Amino acid sequence: MTEQLYRTDAYMRDCTARVLTVNERGGVVLDRTVFYAAAGGQPGDKGVLELAGGATCPVATTVYDADKTTIVHVPAEGAQRPSPGEPVRAVVDWGFRSPLMRMHTTLHLLCSLVKFPVTGGQVNPDDSRLDFDIDDPSAVDKERLTAELNALIAADHPVTERWITDAELEANPGLVRTMSVKPPMGTGRVRLVVIGEGGSVDMQPCGGTHVRRTGEIGPVVVTKIEKKGKLNRRIRVSFA
Ligand SMILES: [Zn+2]
Repeated sequence: MTEQLYRTDAYMRDCTARVLTVNERGGVVLDRTVFYAAAGGQPGDKGVLELAGGATCPVATTVYDADKTTIVHVPAEGAQRPSPGEPVRAVVDWGFRSPLMRMHTTLHLLCSLVKFPVTGGQVNPDDSRLDFDIDDPSAVDKERLTAELNALIAADHPVTERWITDAELEANPGLVRTMSVKPPMGTGRVRLVVIGEGGSVDMQPCGGTHVRRTGEIGPVVVTKIEKKGKLNRRIRVSFA
């Protein structure tokens, strides 16, 4: 299992680490990392591994291995790979990650405003989306959602976290809003992302990366509400 430093501090941009293995497809596994592995609709990080001799190994993306706990840094085509045992410095492409953190947090706010089951979602540096099963389509309106999202952002609510046990989560199924993405369970405890004092805005299990305060997001706009099925509506959000 790779130690996931971004879980305790999403703002860590780099760390020193040791190469454990380079897998048969050339993916680099470190003992610990600040690179987020693609999951829950948030893309995996890009960046570089700085090698001991001064060379760099560009990382095109980051994924989980089949065991879902080992993080694999996928080097760019033709990149020089480090060797097992070698020390490296792992540096996240902050220009890529930072907007993802802002967008990911925006989707939590959207989730808090649209009180219907979430069926899917995708975080992108711009155009992000959440899909909902909405039995009353008049309940969602682009202009109104845009205004409500920007009000939550401007209110600069704190974004904190709280850990609960798997058993506590099972006892409170109402905490899970996303039907399509299972909360990151299996290690005995689950991280709740809490927005607003005591979760007054939103509180749900999530393994992604978020900003510390909603004010960091900046203005956003709901660009489209698309009909994807009898009940299904896709709500798209971009930075304004
Ligand atoms: Zn999240």
